[in-house]
Amino acid sequence: MTQKITDLIQHGYVPPEGFAAPQPGVFKASTVFFPNVAAMRSREWKDKSAYTYGLHGTPTTYMLEERICTLEGGQQCVLVPSGLAALTTVAMALLKTGDEVLLPDNAYGPNKDFSRAELKAWGITCRVYDPMDAQDLQAKITPATKLVWVEAAGSVTLEFPDLVALVRICKAHGVCVALDNTWGAGLAFAPFDLLPGQEPGLGVDISAHALTKYPSGGGDVLMGAITTRDAALHLRIKLTHMRLGLGVGANDAEAVLRALPSIALRYCAHDAATRALAQWSQTQAQFVQVLHPALPGSPGHAHWKALCRPDEGGAAGLFSVVLDARFSRDQVDTFCDALKLFRLGYSWGGPVSLVVPYDLSSMRASWPGHLVRGSVVRFAIGLEAVEDLRADIAQALAVLR
Ligand SMILES: *Cc1c(COP(=O)(O)O)cnc(C)c1O
Repeated sequence: MTQKITDLIQHGYVPPEGFAAPQPGVFKASTVFFPNVAAMRSREWKDKSAYTYGLHGTPTTYMLEERICTLEGGQQCVLVPSGLAALTTVAMALLKTGDEVLLPDNAYGPNKDFSRAELKAWGITCRVYDPMDAQDLQAKITPATKLVWVEAAGSVTLEFPDLVALVRICKAHGVCVALDNTWGAGLAFAPFDLLPGQEPGLGVDISAHALTKYPSGGGDVLMGAITTRDAALHLRIKLTHMRLGLGVGANDAEAVLRALPSIALRYCAHDAATRALAQWSQTQAQFVQVLHPALPGSPGHAHWKALCRPDEGGAAGLFSVVLDARFSRDQVDTFCDALKLFRLGYSWGGPVSLVVPYDLSSMRASWPGHLVRGSVVRFAIGLEAVEDLRADIAQALAVLR
């Protein structure tokens, strides 16, 4: 009986090698066995040719890291438990007391919050620049600036900056430039190779990506990735990552591995439906402005056109509208509540279309000059039939007559 109990735990059976199937296996571990003490002593957790502890990598996470490198065009990747953790881990790896970080005014809100609360408490200064004015970034870089964030398109208002100009300014000052690449997802443009053919290798130093969005595609996984093309920079991030004890679950990694093969198809489908709805929205009188970088006239459209694939697959699945300032906040809320297919909820990249009203004046230093005054509502387009989504917006607009 006692032998049976031990055998159930330490069984001699080893399955035959050579199992091959479309989906990789899911390896789960905290403990990883070493064959002997010498291996235990000599194995380096940073060396991906072997395994030391679940937190530092398993076959499942190594495989996802490699595939994200392929998606982003990078060389090294670190996985973290959320997109926000990707942003904060980059900051913690690169900044120390006395340093300064610059963020675009339209940065992902929680990145601004982290910088203004946590980083400030650690004696790190955070300043905001106008992403649509490269000269403003140029003027704000000081010897203390150690990290510049860029985002294309910007959060909520979707302005597309002159990313090449912003990156060039950072390079000229020797400042590390990190992109929040959740919108582009490695598909709309190549973050490490912005001008392929023309100027090979011109790109950001770091790409942080909320895998929660398009790579997961299901609205059911939280994960982030930090991708680099420089071994020394990767090691700095990896060290901080290890010291913070950040890891991702094997089942979540597997969910992303399962969704990755269809990411380009899904991205194209979200993009096509979003363009159709954004164009149609321009004909609706209640919307005084439609924000979508592929729409001529939208802020930064020329920069988008210069950098991104102009055909489907170059513009993600988000657009925002500015509702006429004559509508009260209650009326805007009633409009959002009246939507039936569009659900109220944060995040995007999944099959279900979402809507969120934003109070832009509380999010920006001042009302951006390129935006008409009014109430901003953001739509994230899922994979439903576009005619149904159009009809849903149309019926909800009736409450605003
Ligand atoms: C969603 C999002 C994040 C954060 O991702 P989470 O996984 O929700 O933490 C970061 N940046 C951008 C631009 C995002 O849209």
